[in-house]
Amino acid sequence: MAARQEQEPASTDVVEVAPDILRMQLPISLPGLGHVNTYALCDERGVAVVDPGLPGKASWNALVDRLGQAGYRVSDVHTVIVTHSHPDHFGGAGLLRHKAGAKVVTHRAFRTWLDPDEGDDAGPDEIDDRPDGEHEAGAHDHEAEGPRSTPWNREMPWKAGTFRPPLKRRMQFRAGKILGQRWMRAPEPSHRVDDADVLTFAGREWVAVHTPGHTADHLCLYSPADGIVLSGDHVLPTITPHISGLVSGHDPLTEFFGSLDRIGSLEGTTLALPAHGHPFTDVPGRCAEIRTHHEERLETLREAARGLGEASVVELSKHLFKPRSWGQMAESETYAHLEHLRMSGEMVSRRVDEDLHYQLVEPA
Ligand SMILES: [Zn+2]
Ligand SMILES: [Zn+2]
Repeated sequence: MAARQEQEPASTDVVEVAPDILRMQLPISLPGLGHVNTYALCDERGVAVVDPGLPGKASWNALVDRLGQAGYRVSDVHTVIVTHSHPDHFGGAGLLRHKAGAKVVTHRAFRTWLDPDEGDDAGPDEIDDRPDGEHEAGAHDHEAEGPRSTPWNREMPWKAGTFRPPLKRRMQFRAGKILGQRWMRAPEPSHRVDDADVLTFAGREWVAVHTPGHTADHLCLYSPADGIVLSGDHVLPTITPHISGLVSGHDPLTEFFGSLDRIGSLEGTTLALPAHGHPFTDVPGRCAEIRTHHEERLETLREAARGLGEASVVELSKHLFKPRSWGQMAESETYAHLEHLRMSGEMVSRRVDEDLHYQLVEPA
């Protein structure tokens, strides 16, 4: 199968994708992802950058190079917009704030375990999903730590959701001891926005659109004047973002559907600028496709449950994912789908020893 556009290695080219908006690509190497798009929004004040890449020297040097090609120095960066709390998006934010005095804009709910108040989310990006049902889940080098376990009694991967590294490790990160003080600073937001807030960059007004699902703090920006959407990981051209079930207290898949409907129903969209892959034009069409993909996954689970009767999360995950993807991320996404079916009244769950089993509700 040909490599997907999200997997392409970072090009050094800087391309103007819309008036005063530049696409710059920074290198990342995560399952299914070869680059992250950092957009530069240019105006008379200098430049606002969206999602300035991973923490670390290679990404920083690439960012300085791309800015330089566009005629900017680091000190020209007046604002950093971070779409959500994954490191390939927030990595350069702290350093830009430190070196350029840039404002760091996030959604109100933005949280990482780098926060001084010990927030409880954010591992590296977990995009693993493919529209044709081929998944890369489980390819991460999970660093499972501590005794905490998932609801289906598997060791909790700290990268997948609610679990955090131990305090000592978080302190080391905060002190810059792991990646080096020069290259890593916690992405402290200076400006937390709410849904419908309006910001001005690149000579346009942008409306903040809160789009929870992939993460609880995901933020898209929409320019009503020309229909451009900065879509982050929420709407990507050929892959779909990982939906983790390991988020307490709500139904992330329902939230994700709501967020897809919001972006899909924005008036007059002309161009989506995603965080990975190429810009694309049919925003409502892509939102509908991603939703259909998950509806099909739900149907696959219903069918599996019809055949199996009562079954565990792990067992059901093996019906949803191919063997090369089996593991914690596949289970986490399966769990999100099962909980969605449970909360909509189609399934029931019960504890069997330490494990969690699901079955369809029998029609009366
Ligand atoms: Zn992400
Ligand atoms: Zn990403």
